[in-house]
Amino acid sequence: MDIIPLKLSVTNCFLVKTGDQYVLIDTGYEDDWDLFHTRLKEADVELFQISHIILTHHHDDHCGLLHNILLENYSIRVVMSHLCKDLIRKGENDRTHGGGLLNRRVALLMHLKRLYLSLILKKAIDKEKNLTFPPYQLRDCDILVTGDTGLRESGLPLDGKIIETPGHTVDSISILFDDGDSLMGGAAANFLRFAVTKYCVVFIYDMREYYRSWEKVIAAGARRIFPAHGGPFAVDKLKKNLWKNKAENIVSYK
Ligand SMILES: [Zn+2]
Repeated sequence: MDIIPLKLSVTNCFLVKTGDQYVLIDTGYEDDWDLFHTRLKEADVELFQISHIILTHHHDDHCGLLHNILLENYSIRVVMSHLCKDLIRKGENDRTHGGGLLNRRVALLMHLKRLYLSLILKKAIDKEKNLTFPPYQLRDCDILVTGDTGLRESGLPLDGKIIETPGHTVDSISILFDDGDSLMGGAAANFLRFAVTKYCVVFIYDMREYYRSWEKVIAAGARRIFPAHGGPFAVDKLKKNLWKNKAENIVSYK
């Protein structure tokens, strides 16, 4: 599949070409607006050429730009898990299902990052602030996905499927194209590996669910993984690292 990465401040979004239009997978933080435009320009793509946005889940670093993008092109149809609908309407990352940071090293890094930013900006960083985004109310033209389903069945002009991959959040979905390329959002990651993340994302709500989701994507025939955080990698990395992180090491995020 011809996948064009748009590397934003923290999040990788992706464009997939279909005819003379594009499907965008995820957006970025609300603050990524200028960078998003720069990346679009580099890819020689205009906002009016985007027909659909698939959201892998409701988090601020994936939905933050949705509002602004739709202000410029209201005809884009937004595709999301049926479990995303109520979460995205709230405009904040879901905390009602519990979960926490992957391990103590990750928790320390997150703490240091806040400390560093507060020193640079000379003010205290509100821990909650970057966990919010402009709320989004589903429109009639948008598409809700329930269960594992074909992309074409869901009204998308692409060959492949959408697989429910919860664990990072309850509403996480991944895309698997017929050639084995898989866009997994936060359902896998290649980020902060020195903090022993082992291809897991930093926030996990349910470790068991997370690895079960890997098993599903592997069994469905994925070959190359494109995470939202970090560069692409071969599916073998998921196979080798299955069940390596333990639920008891998760640090409650309070
Ligand atoms: Zn996320």
